[in-house]
Amino acid sequence: MSTPSPLAACAPSEERILIIYTGGTIGMEVSPNGLVPSGHFDKRLDQALAQLPLPERQRLPVFDLLSYSTPIDSSAANPMTWQHIAADIGARLSDYRGFVVLHGTDTLSWTAASLAYQLQGLDRPVVVTGAMQPLEIANSDALENIQGALHFAAQSALQEVAIYFAGQLLRGTRAVKQHTEAANAFTSPNYPLLGERVEEDFVYYPSRGLSHQQRGAPRFELPDYAPLAQGEVVRVTLWPGMAAWQLAAWLNDARVRGALLELWGAGNIANDPDIVAAIAAATGEGKLIAAISQAPQGSVHLGAYAAGHDLVEAGVISGDGMTPEAAYTKLIHLLAQPLTEAGRRQQFVTPLVGER
Ligand code: ASP
Repeated sequence: MSTPSPLAACAPSEERILIIYTGGTIGMEVSPNGLVPSGHFDKRLDQALAQLPLPERQRLPVFDLLSYSTPIDSSAANPMTWQHIAADIGARLSDYRGFVVLHGTDTLSWTAASLAYQLQGLDRPVVVTGAMQPLEIANSDALENIQGALHFAAQSALQEVAIYFAGQLLRGTRAVKQHTEAANAFTSPNYPLLGERVEEDFVYYPSRGLSHQQRGAPRFELPDYAPLAQGEVVRVTLWPGMAAWQLAAWLNDARVRGALLELWGAGNIANDPDIVAAIAAATGEGKLIAAISQAPQGSVHLGAYAAGHDLVEAGVISGDGMTPEAAYTKLIHLLAQPLTEAGRRQQFVTPLVGER
């Protein structure tokens, strides 16, 4: 862990936020090959904060910074990365009033969704953020995103994993990256914002949060994701003309234990008995297969059309209006635990952390 920020020096630890720096554009520097993950984030953040007007600095909650020794571009993240971050938060939970995770934007919503399943029953905020521009670039969004994340991480009423980005607080299991360039890079297609920046205030909307269902001690589930970190769960997005043999190649590989199918519209698939047979063969072997829509808004209703009806018979579970991130990370999470097949299917259709 890096040295605590000077502002934090005199605050008791339970009044502090822990910032975990994992990498991403927010901390990248220019290299001859393009932007690369970079270290020394503690000093760089202190320098950036020193540029803020004093009243703004003084309003910030105090924090410590934990920098990962090898910051990554989040395109390199995998289930072990999610497990690592969750374990770091779990191990320090009672030491901090809230947590901020600095992360690359490319897979930020995947990590946020996974953290939500692992940190069920959270009794304090975990706010994930990043930036579209490195901290030191003129007019970067980095500092504003860090400030906003810190302000929300200090609000004890927020008791779940959220994403703060460009003035918006989104549920971690409901967010997707929607833009490759704009500062407003994330959206929550099927759930309203949990909060937002209103001028200088960071306003949380508790009626939309999970806090009302967080009773008792946190019920963290921190299973080992290693057996699922080598591609054991696949994501298959349909395209017009997809052949049954192609789907079978994904699903019927002996290493595959689960799959997320991204269907047409309300939950339809080509009228091809061989496709349904490939899916049924996989579920018959106990593989966990869930379906969502490729359309970003709305839900699947398997069986609403004849073109989707056979999927139910083939054992496919409905992912309702879940994001790809929330559905995929939930498959990983459930498959990593010693549940029965029926138990996994039941848990998948049960909202665990407001993901459906
Ligand atoms: N490739 C970067 C990453 O995800 C993009 C970003 O952070 O905006 O780490």
